[in-house]
Amino acid sequence: MLTEPGRCATLPPMTASESAAVSLRSRLIPVGLVITAALIPGFGTDRAAASPFPLRLADSLTHDFCFDASVPASPSVERQRMRDALSYLDDATDFSDLDGGTSCTSTRDVVFFYQSVILNDPNVRGYAPCWTWINSWVCGQAWVIVSPVAISAQSYGYGQLNYEINMVKTIRHEVGHTVGLFHDYADDCMISGRVPDDFKYMVYNSHNIAHINEY
Ligand SMILES: [Zn+2]
Repeated sequence: MLTEPGRCATLPPMTASESAAVSLRSRLIPVGLVITAALIPGFGTDRAAASPFPLRLADSLTHDFCFDASVPASPSVERQRMRDALSYLDDATDFSDLDGGTSCTSTRDVVFFYQSVILNDPNVRGYAPCWTWINSWVCGQAWVIVSPVAISAQSYGYGQLNYEINMVKTIRHEVGHTVGLFHDYADDCMISGRVPDDFKYMVYNSHNIAHINEY
């Protein structure tokens, strides 16, 4: 099992379907990251290769966010999970959060979307591409796209504890990508794939919090 610099390897490798979802994403990695790859020796687009921290940097320590219309206002839990993810980032790290409501201006740091099928793959649960690169490392606006349909299909259904844990885990995981985190194999929300009923998968571990606060 390959690990990234400074990462802990404590969990078993991903299943074949989880690996397939991840490698699909690495094939569709944003253009800016490919440019970055060309500039940095040893940094390829293959996600399984050793990857540097950070994946990308946010452009400021205020992480403001907004909701695309695809994330329904009702029931309120749909947007509240996302607000909670940013509120948690605010509480746990040096970042502060700012709720931009449905005002998705070009300078918003994070725009939340729902999509039933992401990247034409029903197994992809979430995706966080950088939409606006300020330079090859710094992302001005990241999109956080979540598929409740995929997450439901891979857990025990809407309204169940495992669905809720995996929804929260996925949202915080994708937000983690927007502040530079890559995947790890440790017990926190940056692990890739479905997680069991354990609240430890809803938080960033101390290792990742230290990375977020590094810059
Ligand atoms: Zn991820």
